[in-house]
Amino acid sequence: MLDRALAAHDAGTPSGYHGAPISVVPGRRSVVVGVGGVARAELRRWAAATDAAVRAVRTAIPDRWYAHATVVVPAGRAELVALTGRGHRTWDRLAGLTLAEGGADRAALRIYLNAPLLASTTWQARNIVLRHEVTHVATAAPATATTPTWLEEGLAEYLGYRGSGVPLHVATRDVTRVPRRFPADGAFVGAGATEAYELAHLGCVAMVEGVGVRGLLQVYRRTAASGDFTAAWRAVSGTAVGVLLGRWRALARTVPGG
Ligand SMILES: [Zn+2]
Repeated sequence: MLDRALAAHDAGTPSGYHGAPISVVPGRRSVVVGVGGVARAELRRWAAATDAAVRAVRTAIPDRWYAHATVVVPAGRAELVALTGRGHRTWDRLAGLTLAEGGADRAALRIYLNAPLLASTTWQARNIVLRHEVTHVATAAPATATTPTWLEEGLAEYLGYRGSGVPLHVATRDVTRVPRRFPADGAFVGAGATEAYELAHLGCVAMVEGVGVRGLLQVYRRTAASGDFTAAWRAVSGTAVGVLLGRWRALARTVPGG
């Protein structure tokens, strides 16, 4: 069972719908596209959930995006693979993927949901996945190459879990060690990826403790613009990054296995 958001983003190549039957359901803040024969009632539920996710993310990221999300719900694994160009093994564990299609234009950001995998989860888990992916849309994460992966995924996890009712120690229960530094980009694929996501989540919790959610967003945007997280953190918080790392490691020690 999938019980947390294992999600990623990438700057992918344009994909068509490959001639599969499609249906489109508009929400208030979303458009949901079913590919391969998805029941309209299911698409309407996804649209309502996406609308809620957009509203939730907008409270933390109020500007510089359209507060709207396009979500693709494939009927099965075959449609997922064909639409995204990602292989079967990728979709064994990935709940959702946000792609920037047609170049680095945020107007072409699309969220692909692993509907077959999510079918066995609760709406609480699905809403976490949606808020995670909508956060990537709000920050145009797939179209910004300079942001460290831990910061992109940490913000998405933080806003994904915010308001979910899942306690932090449950959301980060796979943390088994207290590292010296934030996870490297390569840690977010393959073995250990779950722990990397959770350490990134804790990194953003530590930042919020220091500078609040607005400060976290300022740090994120400064880093996305410059690629220099250390300078961004110092500018927003007035403290050295070592202070943040110390708070982060202390947090990681409080979760199971940390
Ligand atoms: Zn992600």
